[in-house]
Amino acid sequence: MKDNPFWQVLADKVLAGFSISRSDAFQIVSASDSETLSIVEQAARIREHFWQNRVRLYMLLNAKSGLCPEDCGYCSQSRDSKASISKYPFLPEEIVFKAAEKAEKLQVHTFCLVASGRSPTEKELENVGGIIKEIKSRQRFKVCACLGLLKTGQAEFLKSSGVDTYNHNLNTSRRFYSQICGTHTFEDRIRTVNQVKEAGIGTCSGGIVGMGEDLQDAVDLAYELKDLRVDSIPVNFLHPIEGTPLSKTRELSPLKALRYLSLFRFVHPKADLRIAGGRELHLRSLQPLGLRVANSIFIGDYLTTKGELPEADLQMIQDLGFVIEAAF
Ligand code: SF4
Repeated sequence: MKDNPFWQVLADKVLAGFSISRSDAFQIVSASDSETLSIVEQAARIREHFWQNRVRLYMLLNAKSGLCPEDCGYCSQSRDSKASISKYPFLPEEIVFKAAEKAEKLQVHTFCLVASGRSPTEKELENVGGIIKEIKSRQRFKVCACLGLLKTGQAEFLKSSGVDTYNHNLNTSRRFYSQICGTHTFEDRIRTVNQVKEAGIGTCSGGIVGMGEDLQDAVDLAYELKDLRVDSIPVNFLHPIEGTPLSKTRELSPLKALRYLSLFRFVHPKADLRIAGGRELHLRSLQPLGLRVANSIFIGDYLTTKGELPEADLQMIQDLGFVIEAAF
């Protein structure tokens, strides 16, 4: 099929330093399957311009699992989930240090310490702060914390403990938010992202696509994140987990997943755009194309689901002619 010049014109506009309009962004997500590889080619030009052939690796540690009082419909750790997952309070520090050593061996750029729950208690925060200080004195990578909604002063405390970035996903659009969560609001999430920014910590915030939202919701999410000027954007593809309210939701195909990734690249040309959970399930054999749009991936397992073997991802990166970007 002949390439539609529209996508090239759109990428030229981004490369010239202009933003694309919401209606152009909607055209990306609503394009046909047959147009998708042309869109990916143009998104790849943008990725190459800002990130060349570099790939950042992120590694997650689920430091506290399950037992969450919130009701996020996509999450296996929520109070409404019947998923069979491991549930445990905050891991002993030796286990966290071991995971950090493993991450360093895998050349990760950012080690992500994640804890389930609505927000951290003061005791939990103090514990995490001490662990992060220790890790930062031993390892040469960035540390991201993901501990839920923050109260006044908590972001500043994390900053003083050496946290480089804080993850708090908006997850979906303002309009659709109440469909996936009833125990906190979209505004609560925005507030935490702003607190993080004000404390001088890097902001990591993204979403999950394929939860039943419409295409406009995905566009709205991309622009909410633009308004917040977030530094790093993980794009998750819903992994429907048995026992969760969204376990029967199946809305994605590999090409649709690539259109979503391209949307975020066109709207956030310079962002550290990450292919996050669900990539193995939804991008399948097209994962290398995903990495031509995004510039970072999670290596290893996710919070409660298995990921690709690290060796397979490292091979993919090498086969693409890409190189791993060190944090320092
Ligand atoms: S707050 Fe976090 S851990 Fe709790 S249900 Fe929501 S996503 Fe899951």
